Amino acid sequence: MNKLGIFMNFWEKNWDADHAKYIKKAKEIGFDVLEFQAQPLLEMSDEKIRSLKALADEVGIELTYSLGLDRNYDVSSLDENVRTGGVEYLQNIIRKMHVGGGTLLSGVSYAGWGTPDNFLGDKRPYWEQSIKSMKEIIKVAEECGVTYCVEAVNRFETCLINTAEEALRYVAEIDSPNIGVLLDTYHMNIEENNIGDAIRLVGNKLTSFHTGENNRTAPGRGHLDWDEIFGALADINYKGRIVSEPFVMEGGEVGRDIHVYRNLVENPTEARIDEEAAYLLNFEKEMLKKYNMA
Ligand code: MN
Repeated sequence: MNKLGIFMNFWEKNWDADHAKYIKKAKEIGFDVLEFQAQPLLEMSDEKIRSLKALADEVGIELTYSLGLDRNYDVSSLDENVRTGGVEYLQNIIRKMHVGGGTLLSGVSYAGWGTPDNFLGDKRPYWEQSIKSMKEIIKVAEECGVTYCVEAVNRFETCLINTAEEALRYVAEIDSPNIGVLLDTYHMNIEENNIGDAIRLVGNKLTSFHTGENNRTAPGRGHLDWDEIFGALADINYKGRIVSEPFVMEGGEVGRDIHVYRNLVENPTEARIDEEAAYLLNFEKEMLKKYNMA
């Protein structure tokens, strides 16, 4: 069966948190993978990163990483100082991931998170800057055994890569075994004409998959067509990770950055979010069984 994961900020309103707590919690609920923001790694000693990895190994959880790139490190910037600073920043994150045996990075990691200031519609100069940067970043990813997952996200979060087709084109221009495409159901719901067709278009270039509803609640709670989604994953014989990335609580850094302005789960106590995590895990397992992926 595909490894099933959860993003740590389902529970936490700030990006950094007690990682050890959530490694244990993810395991207790039954997940295989815990994903969290990569940036806090830069503030951690190598010893601390290794201790989290040891804990994850002990309980049987794989750690994967995501990031929304701070615009101060925008690797698609037309300002060469910002761009080269961003390249170095992402290379350092990859090296820190490697300290903890991490192999997978997703998110808006090919440009600053958001659209450039004063953007008037021609994205080619930013695209070219990003490609130039990624050719340098990917060398470090190759050395460190990290797979860079280019995530297509909705138009409010980047101007560069909104669709599966654009992500494929970007990955083809980089041409490395350490880069692939990540599709996320929440973003696809906004940008793709047909979610199943987008998944089939990416096919064997799909290196990781994020799930979330149309409103970023847990899979099964909104109006996405999960039969279409899991049917398409089965069509392409997808064996990779499926990481849920719901965001349901207002407030904090996460509410601010993800634009969650109301609680999407009533009275979201920790126990209630635990229940919701167990619910979505079961929902995805049932879908995998239904499409003979289990
Ligand atoms: Mn995502």
